[in-house]
Formats: sequence, structure tokens, C-alpha cells
Amino acid sequence: MPVISRLVELHPAITAWHRELHQHPELLFETHRTSAFMAEKLRAFGCDEIRTGLGRTGVVGVIHGRQRSSGRVIGLRADMDALPVVETTDLPYASQHEGLMHACGHDGHTAMLLGAAKYLAETRNFDGTVVVIFQPAEEGGGDGREMCEDGLTTHDRQRTIYRKSPRPKRRNRHGIARDLRRIQPVRAQAR
Ligand SMILES: [Zn+2]
Repeated sequence: MPVISRLVELHPAITAWHRELHQHPELLFETHRTSAFMAEKLRAFGCDEIRTGLGRTGVVGVIHGRQRSSGRVIGLRADMDALPVVETTDLPYASQHEGLMHACGHDGHTAMLLGAAKYLAETRNFDGTVVVIFQPAEEGGGDGREMCEDGLTTHDRQRTIYRKSPRPKRRNRHGIARDLRRIQPVRAQAR
């Protein structure tokens, strides 16, 4: 499968975001710095709508495609919170906060979703709307529940939300990990 060349170009930026996030892990709903980082990037990418403070520290970016006749809305979700773990790596970008570490890969999830958001916002080569969802408190804080209670799904009329699996099990015929997992579809409710 050919890799989209624009995404290859974005790779250094995505790597830099990952390292920045890795150095500043935050727990549960306390992802203030991380959330501000996401909102700032989404603004710079030119997302059509950005919402912050959903489910306390959740951040959402809305990106409309060039066409919207399909009426489709797809959510792509990444988790932002880290773990109460002491980092013992010698990485040059190791955690700067003693006792906290992105040991579960959420720094990778968020950096990758930022890369996707940047690509989608600059190309818009799709019919419908993509909602990128940066969610706090995956590690024991109810996961996305508070964001949903704050109206995430009803407001965005999302049909389907995907998340990236940290440990992809299946591979497609090209040997590439099929690691987007579908979250239980959320019925959109008309308001
Ligand atoms: Zn996790």
C-alpha cells in the first residue's frame, strides 16, 4: 500500500509533537497542558470548529470535507492521560515530571491524531465531516463518559467513533496493522 507522501512529510512534525507530549505527562482529568496543546494545534490547522472543556478537559475539532452531501460524520478519538509510573528510560525526551509517564502510549495516539487532523484540514478531500476527539481520563476515569454526558455525541450527531488500538492484532493483506477499532456506535439524537 503506498504511503501518502504528504503524511511522510508530516512525520518529523508528528515525532516532535510526540516527544513534547511525552515530556509532560498528566493524569486523568488533569490534562490541562496537553489539552491546551491540542487546542492550539487544531486552531493552527484551521479546523472549522474547536471545543474545549468537554468532559472537563476534553478537546474536539470539527473538520468539514469539501463535500458534505453524504451527511456522514465520523469521530476519531485519542486518549490524552498518562500513568503514575516512574520513567526509567534514558530517552532524551523522557518525562520531566517525576512519577508520571506516558507508559500506555497515549502520547503516540494523540500525536498521530494531530497528524491526521492536520492532513484532513489541509486536504479536505472527503464527503462529510470528521470530528477529532481528544479525551482525558482513559486510565480509570470513566473513559469518554463525561465527554458524552457533556453532549459530545448528540451535538456532533456522530454515527461511529473509531479509536486506535495500542496493540493491533489483525493485519490486512498488505501486512499493515488494522488497528482502528470501532467503538460501540452512538446513536445520534436530533435536538
Ligand atoms: Zn491507556
